[in-house]
Amino acid sequence: MVEQQYPEVLTIAGSDSGGGAGIQADIKTMQACHVYSSSILVAITAQNTLDVQAVLPMPIKMINAQFASIYADFDIKAAKTGMLADSQHVRCVVKNIKQYHITPLIVDPVMVAKGGTRLLTQEAIETIIQDLIPLADIVTPNLPEAEAITNMRIISKADFETAAKKIAAMGAKNVIIKGGHGQGKTVSDYVLLADGHDFWLSGDRYDTKRKHGTGDTLSSAITSALAKGYSIEKAIRFGKKFVDMAIKKGIVVGHGHGPLNHWA
Ligand code: PLP
Repeated sequence: MVEQQYPEVLTIAGSDSGGGAGIQADIKTMQACHVYSSSILVAITAQNTLDVQAVLPMPIKMINAQFASIYADFDIKAAKTGMLADSQHVRCVVKNIKQYHITPLIVDPVMVAKGGTRLLTQEAIETIIQDLIPLADIVTPNLPEAEAITNMRIISKADFETAAKKIAAMGAKNVIIKGGHGQGKTVSDYVLLADGHDFWLSGDRYDTKRKHGTGDTLSSAITSALAKGYSIEKAIRFGKKFVDMAIKKGIVVGHGHGPLNHWA
């Protein structure tokens, strides 16, 4: 008999019944990255590739109970947050992150699904800025999320840099602003590291509607790499490559915004 040990990671996020985004994308990504994923469910969505049909945040007591279960038993090397629903749930997650000294922490500030359904209330954006971003080792907003957090329009490269500096000033150690929602033949993400070093990560823009769960996949791949001991910069570069492959080798599921290929 051979027993194998894998680095243990945690995702704190929402469920996507369609399996393309949320906690399901996180677990599939982590599995593909050869780390062991545990998961704390903050909300449930009834969802497919076409839209989100319903959202149900979990009872606060049950979220606290999940944190207690995980930290009574596992040795979590890195964790990420995804969909957190509303202010009360953000505060609950923040309380637990502090209580269990969870680090490194990757914060994916999920706000709106591709179909337009809100996955975070407007007022919770302020709670994320005040309470969660200061605890983050890496924050990974897409363009609309970065605009909502910084209250500025982001169009030019200089805007990306200004916005990332603003998010760093809120207390995040490292910031990636994802350019996927922008225009052009390439997608450029801007990275600002804690030591002030910055760089752009560019890749092809793929003409496909199978990009559901892209953000979750990126943040989960980065979380997995950190758990395996990669540096922040290496983990971010690995995450970008992982997502690129997962989009490029799409799979056919459903009739709308399809999932990525986590086997890629
Ligand atoms: N549903 C859940 C539970 C999510 O966490 C996310 C994204 O993080 C989404 C849906 C939206 O994914 P996308 O924007 O790729 O449609």
